[in-house]
Amino acid sequence: MLYLTALILSFISCIGNNGPKVNMDQAPQPVIVTDTPIYPLDSMPGPDKSIEQFTVDYIMGHFDPATHPDFEEVDIKYADREGLFLRKDTYEAFRKMYNHAASDGIRLQIRSATRNFNYQKGIWEAKWNGTKLIEGGENLAETTPDPKERALKILRYSSMPGTSRHHWGTDIDLNNFENSWFEKGDGLDIYNWLKKHAAEYGFCQTYTAGREHGYLEERWHWTYMPVSSKLTALAKQELKNEMIKGFSGSEAAVMLDVVKYYVLAINQECMGE
Ligand SMILES: [Zn+2]
Repeated sequence: MLYLTALILSFISCIGNNGPKVNMDQAPQPVIVTDTPIYPLDSMPGPDKSIEQFTVDYIMGHFDPATHPDFEEVDIKYADREGLFLRKDTYEAFRKMYNHAASDGIRLQIRSATRNFNYQKGIWEAKWNGTKLIEGGENLAETTPDPKERALKILRYSSMPGTSRHHWGTDIDLNNFENSWFEKGDGLDIYNWLKKHAAEYGFCQTYTAGREHGYLEERWHWTYMPVSSKLTALAKQELKNEMIKGFSGSEAAVMLDVVKYYVLAINQECMGE
């Protein structure tokens, strides 16, 4: 009986519904609210920067990531310390990769991100002048007078200012700076996960084993290809050894043809060609 009453009441309320009629021409359009930009399905996340939007000065790290509009500080959650900066597109892709990894029980941690020209100059000159000993404990100012030889020894582990991919804001060092750390336990799990999934997020291992020239293998160094491949292409076109200057030992840039044998001597898969 109660049910029947409810049915009758709702029937009456339907008949009595003479609310305002809506003219479809004046009906409000549906509003789609989204806080994420929409990209073509076949592209990687992040704005698709064309090569024309970058300059050689940018490639050489002549800017301050802390004030550059395309950069953002990395949250401590993702890094081993505060004060690291990445390009926003790279950071966004990293966060997605981080979350996927975390859901698989893998903890990615950024150990180094953007280092501009002045920062790299500090590292380079300390090694060049012997105020910082190189790996293995050698004071190059005492042991290696020849500029070419001295530069080659630094280049085993450090880039020349103006030639580092860390200038670009697209490259990150993850978890540990020893290849052997990635051979067992957590390190091996992380490396295997990256090899399997990093490409899904646009990341590529820049310095793989078995390359003919350039830096040694670095299992920790990954690059955000959707942007860095364009910067690599620009470097190939525009960056000349003669432009690499403004620091002690810069004369070695021409002697060693650093653009060809270091900047461009990367894993071919990261070239994006
Ligand atoms: Zn690196």
